[in-house]
Amino acid sequence: MKPVYSVVIPLYNEEEVIAETYGRLTGVMQTMNEPYELIFVDDGSRDGTAKIAAEIAAGDPCVCLISLARNFGHMPAITAGMEYSRGDAVIIIDADLQDPPEALPHMAALWKSGYDVVYGKRTERKGEGFFKKLSAKLFYGFIRKMTPVDLPADTGEFRLMDRKVCDAVNRLGETHRYIRGLVSWVGFRQTAYEYVREKRFAGSTKYPLRKMAAFAMDAITAFSYKPLKLATLLGAAVSLSSFLYMLFVVWQAIFTDTTVSGWASIVVLLLFTQGLVLMILGLMGEYIGRIFEETKKRPVYIVREVLGRDDFFEKNRKSHNSDTIACHN
Ligand code: UDP
Ligand code: MG
Repeated sequence: MKPVYSVVIPLYNEEEVIAETYGRLTGVMQTMNEPYELIFVDDGSRDGTAKIAAEIAAGDPCVCLISLARNFGHMPAITAGMEYSRGDAVIIIDADLQDPPEALPHMAALWKSGYDVVYGKRTERKGEGFFKKLSAKLFYGFIRKMTPVDLPADTGEFRLMDRKVCDAVNRLGETHRYIRGLVSWVGFRQTAYEYVREKRFAGSTKYPLRKMAAFAMDAITAFSYKPLKLATLLGAAVSLSSFLYMLFVVWQAIFTDTTVSGWASIVVLLLFTQGLVLMILGLMGEYIGRIFEETKKRPVYIVREVLGRDDFFEKNRKSHNSDTIACHN
């Protein structure tokens, strides 16, 4: 039977939470009285996650497991789940129960009342350190300034979207997928559902600082080239001040006899401008690197195995990559 709801759950080393997550999700989905499917996406876990998930999928016809060939990352894992989903509404939820499954009936009600996207908006973040909260705040402030798309603050991937939104996002062929941004970008009628973000049920975060920084860079570069414009402005400001300083130096050389004493200011200026140039070059590099990645047109993820689904081969033929090529050529 075709499911009404598809729930996509990315998993990376979540052996401690998966059984509990499965239990709570199933409990909630059953109260909603409509056919559903749970799509576990194992993102190359190195612990017992795959084994536990396979057991769950074998014992419950509503569950399937998509195992990726390696750890591709949170966004690729969600992309895989979205592409495999068949429901009229697609729900994305973290495996660690930070996003409460109990919110789903409320989000579904909003969907039924006519919204195409219901995104979870965090009113409070429990169990997250000062640093994570501060970095999130700075990040959202920055990204909202930097991008022309209206990206709602304090949202994660936790959301429910209509089939047509999911299909529209699936058709966007970019390699670096900042999913919450892509969902905002496609438009449709969107609304927020406010919830309190709970503490992780068990285990530890799979987003160390390094991954968060890469994620922020992806988000910004995917939606804006304002940083490049700022770099140009900064460059122009520095050149102008250097020019004024040059006039001053020439004046000094002609009309005074203190020219050798300028060593310190020259060193300072040199270091400053060199630093600035390197920084701007690095910024250019970030964009060029992404252009390079996009031109390779590699698939966003590779599936190793699918359990609990009979349409694997059919799906595999029209996988993300061939889709992308088809609409670009
Ligand atoms: N995740 C994933 N691949 C990764 C990193 C994370 O599939 O490379 C999944 C993880 O299992 C979880 C979700 O993404 O379901 C969010 O990760 P996490 O809770 O560690 O992030 P945080 O809430 O700390 O930002
Ligand atoms: Mg989490």
